[in-house]
Amino acid sequence: MKRMLPAGELRRMAKQLELDVDPEIMAGRGQVPAAADEFWRASNVALSEAAVRQDSHRRSQLYHAQARIMHAEGKPFDRVLREANRLDLEEGSQLAEAGVPVEAIVFPCPCDTCASKDLSPRPYGDELREPRLPHLDCERGVDVCSYGVQAARSSAKTGDAEGPDPEGPVVTESKPSGCLASASAVVVGILTIGGALISPHRR
Ligand SMILES: [Zn+2]
Repeated sequence: MKRMLPAGELRRMAKQLELDVDPEIMAGRGQVPAAADEFWRASNVALSEAAVRQDSHRRSQLYHAQARIMHAEGKPFDRVLREANRLDLEEGSQLAEAGVPVEAIVFPCPCDTCASKDLSPRPYGDELREPRLPHLDCERGVDVCSYGVQAARSSAKTGDAEGPDPEGPVVTESKPSGCLASASAVVVGILTIGGALISPHRR
């Protein structure tokens, strides 16, 4: 039998993501293929809309959700998850372009495997070149570690080597990251799938 998330879980995710789904199609218990299709349809619509608005955060949330579903269905999800992580990181580009030294930070998932990795802040450019996320060996299956960006604590340019940040840590993680709002709140990311990246299942 084909694996998929139960309809109730899909409804919960759709609600969290505020997806425009048809409640009648989403109804039912257990594995409901029509509900899964409806989730994919609505999440892909949401992805398109977010792309038009250039809303990286929203797109990341949707991709995280889609990765989770793909994992449940036994499909390769790493590409989608990578894209979600990349979009989170993208939020630092504006700071970087403004000349602010930026570093990438990682909000860890609550699993021992991820906790054992190097999660220290790292120069933004380095992280872009060699992203550490996602951890494909995450014990949760779909890693919910997520990126944030902040002004680097020390900067050779300002000469304020070890001093406190001139402006404090500018964490752009203002929106509740669907990926992982905080290490303690086990917010399972809400994810959607990108129309371009993933095709709705059962096609
Ligand atoms: Zn993990």
